[in-house]
Amino acid sequence: MEGFFYIHSIMRNNILDTPIEYLKGVGPSRAKLLNEELSIYTFNDLLTHFPFRYIDRSKFYTISQINTDSITTQLKGVISHIEEIGKPRQKRLVAHFEDDTGIIQLVWFKGIKWIKPTLKKGSEYIVYGKPTKYGSGYNIAHPELELVEDSDIKNKNFQPVYHSTEKLNSKGLNSRGIAKLTYNLIKQLNGHIAEVLPKKILEELRLVSLAKAYEQIHIPSNQQNQKRAEIRLKFDEFFFLQLRMIKQKLLKEQKTKGFVFEKVGVQFNTFYKKHLSFDLTNAQKSVIKEIRRDIGSGKHMNRLLQGDVGSGKTIVALLIMLIALDNNFQACLMAPTEILANQHFFSVAEALKDLPINVRLLTGSTKQAERKEIHKDLLTGKIHILIGTHALLEDIVQFKNLGLAIIDEQHKFGVVQRAKLWKKNSIPPHVLVMTATPIPRTLAMTFYGDLDISVIDELPPGRKPIKTIHYFDNTRLKVFEFMRKQIDLGKQIYVVYPLIEESEKLDYKDLMDGYESISRSFPAPKYRVSVVHGKMKPTDKDYEMEQFASGKTQIMVATTVIEVGVNIPNASVMVIESSEKFGLSQLHQLRGRVGRGADQSYCILMSSYKLSKEAKVRLDTMVNTNDGFEVAEVDLKLRGPGDLMGTQQSGVLDFKIADLAKDNSILTKARSIAIKLLKADPNLEMTENVPVKNQLIKLFKNKLNWSRIS
Ligand code: ADP
Ligand code: MG
Repeated sequence: MEGFFYIHSIMRNNILDTPIEYLKGVGPSRAKLLNEELSIYTFNDLLTHFPFRYIDRSKFYTISQINTDSITTQLKGVISHIEEIGKPRQKRLVAHFEDDTGIIQLVWFKGIKWIKPTLKKGSEYIVYGKPTKYGSGYNIAHPELELVEDSDIKNKNFQPVYHSTEKLNSKGLNSRGIAKLTYNLIKQLNGHIAEVLPKKILEELRLVSLAKAYEQIHIPSNQQNQKRAEIRLKFDEFFFLQLRMIKQKLLKEQKTKGFVFEKVGVQFNTFYKKHLSFDLTNAQKSVIKEIRRDIGSGKHMNRLLQGDVGSGKTIVALLIMLIALDNNFQACLMAPTEILANQHFFSVAEALKDLPINVRLLTGSTKQAERKEIHKDLLTGKIHILIGTHALLEDIVQFKNLGLAIIDEQHKFGVVQRAKLWKKNSIPPHVLVMTATPIPRTLAMTFYGDLDISVIDELPPGRKPIKTIHYFDNTRLKVFEFMRKQIDLGKQIYVVYPLIEESEKLDYKDLMDGYESISRSFPAPKYRVSVVHGKMKPTDKDYEMEQFASGKTQIMVATTVIEVGVNIPNASVMVIESSEKFGLSQLHQLRGRVGRGADQSYCILMSSYKLSKEAKVRLDTMVNTNDGFEVAEVDLKLRGPGDLMGTQQSGVLDFKIADLAKDNSILTKARSIAIKLLKADPNLEMTENVPVKNQLIKLFKNKLNWSRIS
């Protein structure tokens, strides 16, 4: 039965694998172009080359109504005159286009040879494009043109617009050309697109069939049907990705045994009772419970710990490490920068100083002799906790019995690094990754789909919300005045400058200019100013950090090297220079450096007057909310998922139609349905689920290590 369905559905799907060359209107040379320009090789590829917007063809302007630049406009009229103007190398093609109310010029700078013969004088056209002011009138450069009498799709009011390229344009495959091909394809398929979802799911979620969805996304009969098609296709995109990730996670869990940390012993208890100087928040407690359930179960833990800046992730990490030690395992903690690794090392060593626990630090600047000693002592088990940077990942770093690996500020590391940690013991150590700033749920579910997620959704008590204020550069004197008052109150201040790699020199100059001007306005001996930037030697950096941390300097002028994780509770003012150049999550991270004590803290965003629209949204968001999850949502909308997470693993974030910033509820549904389905039928063997399985195999081919492929 199973085999039958498999073959049956492959046969029915087969037509979609037909090379695009054989579609009516394509042929070998266009096929080659479609391959090269848009990676369209098969019918299926064209079918999933979705429109990126739609034009409502029922709305027309008249030429006399055109009065502003840059509003995309649709006109109906005739071409009355065609000419080529200009010297051979700067030739342009100009067509006069008229309706009853006036005349406008259509202009082409490229593809003249191809376009000119297609223009028909006296015929009625629909013109679509952006008018720009030109002399006393307007012109439209490179408009979309369509003969009114033309094509099968002329009756459709709601028309698709497709991405195309210059090269394709020149071969007649502009958006309109692609629409025609797609139209031919849909007609040829005539609804013969095999359904891939079980009826039950379609009914439960009231989704339209796949065949209908493809038809209505490309040739919508109205906006409502187009929307329903979109929802169905978005659902599929999320669903199959989630299905794959959850399946892989289940397979991994089945395959990978985990160490059992069965007891909480003397190290944990002593520290908890005698050395922990505050009560854990309820959120911290429940996260620790979740983690204990994992590590006590014999299952391998792979968990993401999310929490806003300052929510107290580090102490959770420390307590879990102590549980590892109590069960005779070693633990390690990896951070993305030396400053942060140093700081973790000092705070952990300080917290544990009265306990018989050996904590060591390993970074790029650890001296050779010490490094050798560390390597040796890790193997004998003399070192209990190792803290460090990427240096931990080197093959030469081997443990006697590593049971737990914690990664701080995960999104600076990739999956590859995580995998390396896995290999540090015969059975992989439990892995806990912590994020620097919150990530929107949709992103976390996708990017970290192979991890379980815990959230600390509560800040330690007594924290006052940080007051965030935006000032323009010309109010700097007022800001200096404010800084002086804060210093008089015994407070410390960060002043941060951007560091953008392309203009490193300029940034360095800005930083040093700023440092000088601050040193002048805050003269010694009353004031002391530290400076830290990327060009300094690590030892010098440490020295300056130490000066500030111990309160010997009151102002720390720095680049974003201090962005991540630095914890100095007495610092209560964060001044961010050129704040318009920072991304939102960076701004939020920086702001999180203050507000760590009980006093009122401030974040001052300095910027120039010239602000892009986006920069304004960023700064307003910062002023309006302290909530990292809210900030993250706005960031996702502004930047998109790929940019937000960096380029690693971006494949997971490439969607053809779904949008992680907008389609939250579809994703959540897709994920829960995927979980339910795999729970009921882990190998997708039930007859109704076989098409789902086949689709999975088709989509992910050899990337899926399915236990049984029938
Ligand atoms: P993050 O989650 O950003 O890494 P940290 O772990 O650095 O935050 O914690 C921020 C500060 O809050 C630290 O000074 C830490 O000692 C303190 N802290 C953590 N948990 C609590 C708590 N339950 N009560 C009071 N202070 C806490
Ligand atoms: Mg931290």
